[in-house]
Amino acid sequence: MSQGAKASSAITIDKLIKKFPLPGLGENFVVLHDISLTVDEGKFVSIVGPSGCGKSTLLNVIAGIESYDGGTVTIHPKGGRATAEPRIAYVFQSPRLLNWLTVENNINFVLEAQKVPRARWRELVAKNLEMVGLAGQERNYPLNLSGGMQQRVAIARALAIEPDILLMDEPFSHLDAITARKMRFDLMEILQRAKPTILFVTHDLSEAVFLSDSIYMMSTKPARIFKQVSIDIPRPRKPEDSTILDLEKTLVRDFFSVVEAQG
Ligand code: ADP
Ligand code: MG
Repeated sequence: MSQGAKASSAITIDKLIKKFPLPGLGENFVVLHDISLTVDEGKFVSIVGPSGCGKSTLLNVIAGIESYDGGTVTIHPKGGRATAEPRIAYVFQSPRLLNWLTVENNINFVLEAQKVPRARWRELVAKNLEMVGLAGQERNYPLNLSGGMQQRVAIARALAIEPDILLMDEPFSHLDAITARKMRFDLMEILQRAKPTILFVTHDLSEAVFLSDSIYMMSTKPARIFKQVSIDIPRPRKPEDSTILDLEKTLVRDFFSVVEAQG
């Protein structure tokens, strides 16, 4: 239960350890080492780290897709929800839509899986498509849409289940730079309205600084968190603002000093 003015946490991870087997050797390698982090309810938290450091593995553990070998992962249900089981939505690097289903049925598919009453489907589809700027696309098919529009459908599908927690794994990294920039602005606007708790993974520091309330920086082999930064730059933000650029520069320097220390 939340106490006083203290923010209640949505995700608490304490000393998480995750190993994968080394093929053919009968041994394990440690991919995540002693990872501890908290994500407070309603906050946008990013994890930034180089490719291959274990970011997707961490999200998969939180989503319950991967097991883990030590520590604890606790997902706290949002205050007031009747069911004790928190709802987690996941947006991947690629949209992962079912191309043989209409946009509407792609969303209905997850609503059904999440046991959302059928009577609410139409409203949830319309509301969330409108939110991502795709009102009226219900009957269209994914392959008629651009990459950016497909990723918008994936975001609408994720928000439609009214998640307690939204996990996003480099959702804009497959888009061209101009579309990605527009999507970041739009995501900020969407979140003003939907306000889920977000754990966002990226290798792009400037994206993380622009979007986040808090950033955890990860180094590699094994992945550990070497720094946490809280960002209280007011919104709406502009990626070119000097406060954003200055923070980015500082964080890039921190990254290099850690990478160099690792050799
Ligand atoms: P990131 O998302 O940061 O790029 P990943 O979490 O995908 O990194 O991968 C972290 C490390 O774990 C990599 O070395 C990758 O090869 C390894 N890995 C990921 N998934 C598996 C798996 N299912 N089995 C064995 N090794 C894996
Ligand atoms: Mg990844």
